[in-house]
Amino acid sequence: MIEIDGSTGEGGGQILRTSLALSMCTGQPFALTRIRAGRPKPGLMRQHLTCVNAAAAVCGAQVLGAELSSQTLHFTPGPVRAGDYAFNVGTAGSCTLVLQTVWPALMMAEAPSRVKLGGGTHNPMAPPFHFLDRSYAPLLRRLGAEAELVLRRMGFYPAGGGEIEAVLWPARDLLQPFDLNERGALREAHAECFAPALPRSVARRELQQLGAGLGWHEAQLREAATRQNEGPGNALLATLVHEHVTEVFTAFGEKGVSAEQVAQAVVGEVRAYQASEAALGPHLTDQWALPLALALWQRGGKASFTCTELTPHARTNFEVIERFLPVRFSATPFGHEGSAWQVRALAL
Ligand code: AMP
Repeated sequence: MIEIDGSTGEGGGQILRTSLALSMCTGQPFALTRIRAGRPKPGLMRQHLTCVNAAAAVCGAQVLGAELSSQTLHFTPGPVRAGDYAFNVGTAGSCTLVLQTVWPALMMAEAPSRVKLGGGTHNPMAPPFHFLDRSYAPLLRRLGAEAELVLRRMGFYPAGGGEIEAVLWPARDLLQPFDLNERGALREAHAECFAPALPRSVARRELQQLGAGLGWHEAQLREAATRQNEGPGNALLATLVHEHVTEVFTAFGEKGVSAEQVAQAVVGEVRAYQASEAALGPHLTDQWALPLALALWQRGGKASFTCTELTPHARTNFEVIERFLPVRFSATPFGHEGSAWQVRALAL
């Protein structure tokens, strides 16, 4: 039984999701205490409970403590079963985080799986669908894990109602770790504004401000088409396609936040990335660690990557991964920007 203290480091939901994912992949049971102790509303919220239930469904786990607000969880996994699954958060809570919980296990299964997810698809403090599709999935593909994602309907806070479908192919024998130290040449950069059920002026103002802030021209600024049954909601995305990695930076509109502030938030993130030479931005860094570690566990050897920043999310995720897998992470400063790092991951 691996014992994890959910209050360590970042103290958020990622400690739970990484534990669930790696427990399923390795067959090791775990006990998690002080779940999300670092958050204003600690314990399992609807979205986290959906992650636990999804994980239990995928591997037939025995679970204690799977209740709303629970701060303790015991999870004893069974064998991972490929199949057709449907998981619904039931609120506007992020369903992309539910997908990320079961994805590693299903890519280690024997056959393809189809997963339907319901909830929020574009939430603050979670990877938006477009980030998973453009940034995360291509890196997993390069590792050997093929996946196809479809956005059926966008879901925003507070209405939710988003829908995603994912097909995940088995990759256990295919995983091949690789180095990701350079982002490579910039091939394409564009911004898009999703503002379903909101006045068109919102999208125009956000895009104009973003264009002015980054010096991007009209052709790079897109008002994204949305479906009639979506929203209301607002997400402003900037996508930077480099030779070796694609980054997606996102900010969300909400009541009381001006279009200018939304644009400024994205401009700030893009500028920080552009000011660095490292390959991975802050979010991709913490999310890349787990699939890379799985590949190292399967194949042995070592791999490295560079990142613009090492957030508490990233450092905490490294620690949780090291509890489940015989892989060790170490980081050394990289480049001249001051905050960038090179991370080395080594199979023991
Ligand atoms: P937690 O706060 O512990 O529930 O973890 C949140 C997860 O969502 C982390 O993996 C973050 O990197 C990720 N995340 C948060 N915001 C974004 C964003 N704008 N784009 C991509 N990933 C994000």
